[in-house]
Amino acid sequence: MFRRDTPAEAAFRTEVRTWLEANLPTALRGRTTRPPPEELMPWYRTLSRKGWIAPHWPKQHGGMGATLNEQIVMTEELARVGAPPLPVQGLNHIGPILMEFGTEAQKAKHLPPIVAGTVIWAQGYSEPGAGSDLASLTTRATLDGDRFIVKGHKIWTTWAHHSDWMFALVRTDPQAQPKHAGISFLLIDLHSPGIKVRPIRTIAADDEYAEVFLDDVTVPAENLVGKLNDGWRIANALLGHERIGTSNPQFVLTALERIKTMARATGIIADPAFQDRLAAASINITALSALFSHAVELTNHEQSPGPESSIIKIVGSELLQSLNELLVEAAGGHATADCPFETNFGAVDAAIPYLFSRRVTIYGGSSEIQRNVLARRVLNLPS
Ligand SMILES: Cc1cc2nc3c(=O)[nH]c(=O)nc-3n(C[C@H](O)[C@H](O)[C@H](O)COP(=O)(O)OP(=O)(O)OC[C@H]3O[C@@H](n4cnc5c(N)ncnc54)[C@H](O)[C@@H]3O)c2cc1C
Repeated sequence: MFRRDTPAEAAFRTEVRTWLEANLPTALRGRTTRPPPEELMPWYRTLSRKGWIAPHWPKQHGGMGATLNEQIVMTEELARVGAPPLPVQGLNHIGPILMEFGTEAQKAKHLPPIVAGTVIWAQGYSEPGAGSDLASLTTRATLDGDRFIVKGHKIWTTWAHHSDWMFALVRTDPQAQPKHAGISFLLIDLHSPGIKVRPIRTIAADDEYAEVFLDDVTVPAENLVGKLNDGWRIANALLGHERIGTSNPQFVLTALERIKTMARATGIIADPAFQDRLAAASINITALSALFSHAVELTNHEQSPGPESSIIKIVGSELLQSLNELLVEAAGGHATADCPFETNFGAVDAAIPYLFSRRVTIYGGSSEIQRNVLARRVLNLPS
């Protein structure tokens, strides 16, 4: 990409490439949507047994403690082989948050199963009346002795129907002003009585997310992360990790490979005007990779990134969408098909990746909200 491997990194790259070629099942390569857990989690656990599931986690918590460049090598090699996206709510969201804000008991209980891939996590932030305006959330948690009683409704909860645990924002002080001063951060066992989960089908025809109904669910008080009514600070720290993670260059690199395969198959690769656009896309990917590595470098392993993470969220998500528009152009008349187009270089689908990419400027906070964050919290512009 934008840098050359040192001899040690080149050796590591060869090791990663060889191992991935030998171990990633063919059926999981180049998938346009995330495979269901029964297919994906065995692969997650294979990576875990190899010690490569959490390159960015410190060794003391079961991670690889990889250098930044080693992390980039892994990202590039995973994209090259067409590896599927893993569930990130444990690895990228709650894991780093527990390292920073969790009690020793919370770390000991929750970090090892995330690394092992024996427990899946979901993120319970959004509600029907609280998306961009997240601080309006109304899911209520009432402290009753050594437990909370939780009542409310979460929505757009990725993989909730496959998950065991959900980290959630709940209102613990309904009178607090401003509104975000009355929010706490809770860890909720999704197998608890009183929880109902209903999957939602997306425009790309997958059931990536779900609604979660909580009806007087008992949650032990020890599942509170940080202090009571201090959940907003933790929520924002987590969003910083989320925004950087969702812009991992693996996604755009995978999209670029798909465009090249499609363009070779349809012949548009020979068109100088298309080549020009492909070159521009490649340059933008190199720029994103540089930005990503800079962001990761700034993020100390146990410290959350700041509002600057909104920059990379905008660049990464909007680039992915423009790449999928290029894919549709490369596919020409084949773009309308909602089944893979058989090429000499394998099956490639344009419609599903295009539809799939529409979501990336929404989740983790929409592009409009990221621009608001940058205006207010980075540039200090008036509201
Ligand atoms: C694929 C996917 C997965 C998701 N996974 C999860 C998950 O696991 N957990 C979870 O909690 N949530 C999840 N979400 C929800 C996501 O965080 C919300 O959809 C997002 O925050 C937007 O909220 P909303 O849908 O309520 O839209 P709204 O907030 O109603 O926004 C609608 C439109 O208005 C714009 N808008 C709103 N307010 C402003 C403003 N002040 N200034 C300018 N424009 C504004 C928005 O940008 C958007 O275009 C997911 C969403 C998607 C698409």
